[in-house]
Amino acid sequence: MPKIQIMSSVLANQIAAGEVIERPASVVKELVENSIDANSTKIDIHVEEAGLKLIQVTDNGEGIHSDEVEQAFERHATSKLISNEDLFRIRTLGFRGEALPSIASVSMVTVESAQEGKAGRHIKLEGGKLVESKPASSRRGTLIKVEQLFFNTPARLKYVKTIKTELAHISDTINRLALAHPEISFRLFSDENTLLKTVGNGDIRQAIAGVYGVETAKTMKKIESTSFDFKVYGYVSLPESTRASKSYMTIIVNGRHIRNYALAQAIVDGYSSKLMVGRYPLAVVNIEMDPLLLDVNVHPTKQQVRISNEKELGELVKKAVNDLMSAEQRIPDALGNI
Ligand code: ADP
Ligand code: MG
Repeated sequence: MPKIQIMSSVLANQIAAGEVIERPASVVKELVENSIDANSTKIDIHVEEAGLKLIQVTDNGEGIHSDEVEQAFERHATSKLISNEDLFRIRTLGFRGEALPSIASVSMVTVESAQEGKAGRHIKLEGGKLVESKPASSRRGTLIKVEQLFFNTPARLKYVKTIKTELAHISDTINRLALAHPEISFRLFSDENTLLKTVGNGDIRQAIAGVYGVETAKTMKKIESTSFDFKVYGYVSLPESTRASKSYMTIIVNGRHIRNYALAQAIVDGYSSKLMVGRYPLAVVNIEMDPLLLDVNVHPTKQQVRISNEKELGELVKKAVNDLMSAEQRIPDALGNI
């Protein structure tokens, strides 16, 4: 008997899930990103027990062709990357064709999807194995239900924190996606509670109002700055309304929320000495660039990216905030001093 064998696809998917699906919020992120890539204008997310019992995402996007719903759960199956060159021009949030098979390998999944005017398909998988496939209604869009997450990976289930912590991660994930996509109406429900509602009219300040409240949104100021390679725009708070945590800064590159220490620091530096030590602004900073300048294929979760000319971009972000600070200073104070 040979010693080297190719592992089963279910096992390979479970191993991939170890990287991509760390906790319930990772499932939420992957499913909602798929809904965004499908050009949805309305996305509803329902979770029960912080997603451990149920995560359900309903969208009104383009849907999956009824002949391809099963295929979407195969590893490396994607409609988003066709050629090698596409890898350097990524405009979609997904491209690895890994999320659905990974999620399915560690949970019970039900999918119902239909394209405009076409017959729909309903399928069910248990631990990655197809157990049901039948015709479904032709309501345009996709509904995905993920139940009993990590039922077959006890080590991962043990690692999951309290309901409160996991729910906070889910909320944070949806908040950032909503801030990055003001053109989409998001609703997040947890058990009986509504945690988030955004209007989806394309206005960033309206999205901020949905996430941080109307009063906070009103106090935030517009920033904008452009160079040959980059366009930076968004809203930041004034030095008098800050937070004790950096987590109220959201950096979005070509529609994708990213984590980047240097750019977060550039926002802070834009305030020069106006922020108190240990205080951070609220900020929603959008950056647009040619996808050729951006490598998103750094990590499976795609939250870290490599940007060509990151230093120049940092200077531009700092300048965008700094221009606002200078402009604010020119406004006369209560005594009329300029
Ligand atoms: P990726 O997003 O990297 O392509 P996924 O495993 O997340 O890989 O999804 C596989 C494919 O299934 C996608 O490329 C897309 O064609 C289809 N798909 C998944 N979710 C949706 C959705 N909500 N609406 C339309 N198509 C979807
Ligand atoms: Mg995807």
